[in-house]
Order: sequence, then C-alpha cells, then structure tokens
Amino acid sequence: MEYKIPFVDLRAQYLSIKKEIDDAISNVISESAFVGGRFVKDFERKFAKYIGAKNCIAVGNGTDALFIALKSLGISYGDEVITVANSFIATSEAITLCGATVRFVDCKKDTYTIDTDLIESQINERTKAIIPVHLYGQASAMEDILKIATKYNLFVIEDAAQAHGAEYKDKKIGQMGDASCFSFYPGKNLGAYGDGGAITTNNDDVARKIRMYANHGRMEKYNHEFEGTNSRMDGIQAAILNVKLEHLDNWVRNRNLIAKIYNDNLSKSVVAPFVENYNYHAYHLYVICIENRDKAMASLAKNQISTGIHYPIPLPFLNAYRYLKYLPEQFPVASHLCKVILSLPIYGEMTEEQAYRVVESVNKFVDNEEME
Ligand SMILES: *Cc1c(COP(=O)(O)O)cnc(C)c1O
Repeated sequence: MEYKIPFVDLRAQYLSIKKEIDDAISNVISESAFVGGRFVKDFERKFAKYIGAKNCIAVGNGTDALFIALKSLGISYGDEVITVANSFIATSEAITLCGATVRFVDCKKDTYTIDTDLIESQINERTKAIIPVHLYGQASAMEDILKIATKYNLFVIEDAAQAHGAEYKDKKIGQMGDASCFSFYPGKNLGAYGDGGAITTNNDDVARKIRMYANHGRMEKYNHEFEGTNSRMDGIQAAILNVKLEHLDNWVRNRNLIAKIYNDNLSKSVVAPFVENYNYHAYHLYVICIENRDKAMASLAKNQISTGIHYPIPLPFLNAYRYLKYLPEQFPVASHLCKVILSLPIYGEMTEEQAYRVVESVNKFVDNEEME
C-alpha cells in the first residue's frame, strides 16, 4: 500500500513531545493563566533570548505583529511602505490597515527575496518604511536594506513569519531591523496550537508602545494612554511554545538535512533553492522551479506526495489590489516565478526515507517529460 507523505506533519510532532505538551497545557488550566500571565512572560523572555533581541512582545498572530509594529513606529495615513511582490497577503495588508499605501518591489531572480537594486526607485518623500520578507526561511539582503534605510531615514520592519531559526551572517533573524515580526501559526517553523505572534525589537521605547498598543493602549489596568487594540497571546499557546522552542534548533537542523538530500539528489532539470553563503536557511519551505509545474504537482499527488505553491498569484495581481492596476511587466521576476515554483514537503520530523521517496517521484516525472 502507498503511504502518504504529507506537506507537514503536526501530529507526528505532537506525538514526539506529547507528555511535555500535555503537562504544559494542564499547568495553564490549573493556574487559570488564560490570557497573559506567567507563561506568556516566560515565553517572551525565552524567545527574546533565543533571537538575541532586547525585547519580545507576544501578540495574537503574525498579521497583528506586522500591523502593531508599523502602527507603533507611527506609520499612518499618507505614508508609503515598501515591500516585496511575492509574499503572503498579511505583509501588505498590515500596511493598508495602518492607512498607508503599499509600494511593491519585484524579487531577486536567485533568492526570491526583495530586489534591493529596485528599492530606491520606489522611494519618495512619503516613504516611511521597508518590510523585507525573509521568504521561505531565507534572510533578505539585510545589509543592503539597512544601508538604504539609513540613507533615506526609513524604518525597517522584518517579516520573519517564515524565518524562526534562520541566520544572517551568524546572527539569528529578528534583531537587525527596528522591529521583527513572527507568526506562530501551527504550520510555521515554530507553531502554536492556534494563532500566535510576536514582535522582537532592541528599541525599549518602541517595545513599550507595542506592548501598550496590543493591550488597549495601557500599561496599568484602567489607565489607557491611547486607543490600541486587543491582540494578546493566550497562556495555553505560550506554554506550548515554551515547550517547542527547546526543540526548534533540532527541527531546523532536520529541515536542513532534508534540504541537503533534495539538493544532492534532485534532477539537474529542476532549479533547487539558491542560498547565499552567509545565510543559514530555516527551510520553512523548500521551493523548486520545475517545468510543467501543474502537471508535476498532479503527478506527485498521484504518488501520495503533498505539495504547495507559495504563492500562485504575486501580491500586486491579487483581486484585493486590482485598483492599483499593476501590469505583469512591472514585476517580471515574480510574474514568471509564480508559474514554475513548487514547494516540496519539508518538516522537522520528516525522515530521510520520505525525502528519497519525494526525490524519486520528482525525478521520475522529469525523466518522463524529457522523453516525450
Ligand atoms: C504566516 C505569515 C504571516 C502572517 O501570520 P499569521 O500568524 O497567519 O497572521 C505574515 N507574513 C508571512 C510571510 C507569513 O508567511
């Protein structure tokens, strides 16, 4: 009988740490520490230490993390924020939610992260910030981005929702920009059992603003200095994340092991991910470029292998942004990539045997195509 290779296997992960997780959840319930409380404090301290940032503020989800970071840095109506054309909509949504205007920039041909050579052409007197997305788990070209930001006095907000455990020049992602935003959506490299997010920052004033904004603009119970929102992490998620954080480096190491098997064994006719030599890729996703992508996807599905496309439509071409009237030739790289990219299964518990089965299935497809 065929056995299925899922895209991620959250159940396998749970079973590998079941006792720790069950105990953690039970402790939160015993103490009724449902929203905020000591488990959240504990997680904030541990995650800040893990990242190497001075502050960590836990929030409701990754989208809120981006929105609250932008809001707390003062991004508002009339401002413009630059981000990359290929990401998840949360990145650009957060900009619009602040009342600001999104300026999309195409991605690089090799790393698929924001093309730093194109950023300056999008800067004008309204520009306030750049949001690089560390797409698929690989850091954007941070030094180039920070140089541009310094030159034009812009904030840098890192979208690190896919990059827990990734490194740039031996530094963990999440400490270089003015603020870095993480998502703990269950399928991410570090995932909760529900929604969760966090912002890391080395700026104490910004950290204080973020903490207040996420909790109705207050530090003390009924002393609201401004209107904010309700975006807090709940105790159960924090307790789960405390358990999982201890395993994160191991899981990322296994993702790298699986990626190496793919790199070394996939047919040369598919384009494997390009990794800058100063980057440690967290491989949230392992994305190849392959001819006849849709046919490849169907062929893998027939072999019980789940795949994904991240993302099938570049942000500027989503219906949500049709009012901006962008043309494909404005984003040639993203427009091409979305037709050929394919995300192969990769996760912390994936076995070498499973990886070789994926390789075999991809290579067989490529060979058959080439014979036709
Ligand atoms: C997942 C993700 C987000 C949003 O996170 P949520 O927790 O789902 O709100 C933002 N940006 C990127 C690049 C993501 O992958």
